[in-house]
Order: sequence, then structure tokens, then C-alpha cells
Amino acid sequence: MREKPLIVANWKMHHTITSSMEFVEKLLNGWTKVKTHVGIAPPFTSIQALNILSNQNFLLGAQNIHENQSGAFTGEISSQMCREAGCDFVILGHSERRKYFFETDEIVCKKIHSALFSQLKPLVCVGESLGEKNSGKTIEVVSNQLKKAFNEVENALARSLMIAYEPIWAIGTGRAADPLEVEHIHEEIRSMLATFWTKDIANQIPILYGGSVNDDNIRDFLKYPDVDGALVGGASVKFDAFFNMVTKEYK
Ligand code: PEP
Repeated sequence: MREKPLIVANWKMHHTITSSMEFVEKLLNGWTKVKTHVGIAPPFTSIQALNILSNQNFLLGAQNIHENQSGAFTGEISSQMCREAGCDFVILGHSERRKYFFETDEIVCKKIHSALFSQLKPLVCVGESLGEKNSGKTIEVVSNQLKKAFNEVENALARSLMIAYEPIWAIGTGRAADPLEVEHIHEEIRSMLATFWTKDIANQIPILYGGSVNDDNIRDFLKYPDVDGALVGGASVKFDAFFNMVTKEYK
């Protein structure tokens, strides 16, 4: 883990503008107790309101963007729109997007380029299914996802990337991965990144773990040197659980 971990809330389709603002007002009221870097990815509708409240204390993120900058894509939102609304980062390639919205690695790659073009940091999610894990294919799957997603990302822009290793079978199931196995997978990911760019760049890219992280188990992950933080879904939606995570001392 780095000096301070990054804990990112993925609210998915939870929280209206009103409840998002109540959450963030409480967070900012207790801000002197916060000991980690914090990211919040609310639904699109809350982004602008939270940007006004946040005063740049925490990173604000979108949960998706379209790969094009503009055009006839009813219902979609571009990287530039998110950037202008106040986003610092965008979650890309989340397994729910891959499963329910048929996002492929090629689409994720286009979205990464679009995000970088608009100075949004891509938080790119990768991870294997239970079947792939059981047949010993985790590293192969993750390596393929990363290679395809980061195609033609040049050195200068690679420093803006963030990664979340999120085994699909651990997301929203209450069954988190084994922390030591996660550390080994993160080490492998970092070695892969060094082959894509340089060792120095690989060391600068935060690699978060996601999958049933909560207030009780988060320490078990963040004690490892290659786990730079956590991407938290379910346990980030309720204020008390999230506040407990970001106010812990991780050393
Ligand atoms: C996620 O959706 O990115 C996630 C990690 O969800 P959960 O924490 O609920 O498993």
C-alpha cells in the first residue's frame, strides 16, 4: 500500500441528488477524521451537485462514458461532459457493464482513450469469472483484458491510469477474495504494466482491489504493498460503513 490508500465508492444506481448531497455533507463535516484518499462515483445526476460541495477534498468520478465525444447516441454521456461537470476519474470496464451492456475489451479501450483525451483518469476494472478462477486462468484472463484495454496508450498518458482488480465472483456476493492471493495478482499486474510501459510508470499506477470489501475486511487487503486501495460497491452506499473505512489508520 502507498503512504495513503485510495478508497473509491461505486454507488452504482443508488442515491438521488438529495441523498448524495446529504451523504457528502456528512462526510465533509467529519473530514478532519478522514485518513485516506477518497473517491466517489455517484450516478450521473449527482455529479454536478457533489462537485460544488466537494471543494476538491475528494476525487469525483463517473461510472461510465460513451467512447465518442459527441453525436447521435441517445441516452449517452461523453468524457468531456463528465469532465466539465467536475469529474476527475471514470470507472471503465466494470463487470456489470461488461455483463449487462455487452462491453468488450475493445470498447473499454476506446473509452479509455476518450477519457484520457478529456483529462479524466480511467479507473479500469479487470477480473476473472469463477469458472476461469477454478480452471487456473486468472492471470491469463486479466493479462488479456489489460493488453487489449491499454492498446496504444502512450507513456505520458499511462501515468493517469488506475486499475481495479475485481474478481467477478466476489462482486456483490459477500465472498471477498483471499487477501494474499489478491496481493500476488496485483504483483503480477504490476509486472505486466512494466512490460507495457516502464517500471517507474507501473509503480505509479494505483491498483485497487474490489469485491465484497467492507468495514470488517478492508484492513486485510490494505496491509499488502501492492494493494493501493479499494473499490467498494455495496458497503460504500451506507454512510456509516463508508465513513468507518476512510477514517481507519492503515499502517
Ligand atoms: C463493485 O461494484 O465495484 C464492487 C466491488 O461491489 P461490491 O463491493 O458490492 O462487491
